[in-house]
Amino acid sequence: MSQLIPENVSLFVRWWLSFGLLGARYLIFAGSAYLLYYVIKRQDWLFMKIQQKMPERSQIMTEVGYSVLTFTVFASVVVAIRFAVISHILDTKIYRNLSDHSLIYYIATTIFIIIFHDTYFYWAHRLMHHPLLYERVHKVHHLSKDPTPWASFSFHPYEAVLEILFVPFLIFTLPLHFSSLLILSMWQIIFNVMGHLGYEIFPHRMLQHPLFKWLNTSTNHNMHHKYVTCNYGLYFNFWDRVMNTNHVKYQATYEEVTARRNEGFKKQQEQEAQVTEPML
Ligand SMILES: [Zn+2]
Ligand SMILES: [Zn+2]
Repeated sequence: MSQLIPENVSLFVRWWLSFGLLGARYLIFAGSAYLLYYVIKRQDWLFMKIQQKMPERSQIMTEVGYSVLTFTVFASVVVAIRFAVISHILDTKIYRNLSDHSLIYYIATTIFIIIFHDTYFYWAHRLMHHPLLYERVHKVHHLSKDPTPWASFSFHPYEAVLEILFVPFLIFTLPLHFSSLLILSMWQIIFNVMGHLGYEIFPHRMLQHPLFKWLNTSTNHNMHHKYVTCNYGLYFNFWDRVMNTNHVKYQATYEEVTARRNEGFKKQQEQEAQVTEPML
């Protein structure tokens, strides 16, 4: 996101612009998902909610409050990176002309940073579940047993630092086109909001598909919030499968949730068809 900020602004302005951009991205993605699933379709789509209940208002306030706190941490990291650059302590390897590297390099690095973030997240997440760190660092995120999209950045400031640390590591070590970072930023918010949506959006048989079963689902992360010691992944279900940390009932729960959703939709359509049939 910081790539959207002009070079010549002061650190103070850069902090506020970063905070504003992060907040706007959160409001647009988490806000629109919340508006659709929890306000407009609240009653109509209740049958397809993963956990069959609605969150308390106090939970949502906590999720939003900690997310705003997270953006203050993220904006401070953006400013710290800029400070390191203008003070000639470190220089980023970000390039702005696509012609500086080949197209293959651009595509490969864009895919690589998504895989890298997925791996970083899984292991950092496992680390935060260690008894020595859990209470102090990660428990805030688990205050939501049944998260809403607003929980996407609901972190303790210590966790917020850990979550963002892979960004300076990448930009100071690997030549990346700025648009690769924007793609990662969009990919991140989409999966993050989806993981905390509380509703499953993928097809019923997806986990039986040899390729698509490797993609993470909303049910997977919802179960992480409910059961805590399972399903640590972010974008892909790779590390959870390799490390055998998926909940034993992950696939069964996914199939129950998606079958209930499909059945509910069918019933709704049948009812609507009956209502609109002309009276004979
Ligand atoms: Zn966790
Ligand atoms: Zn979560």
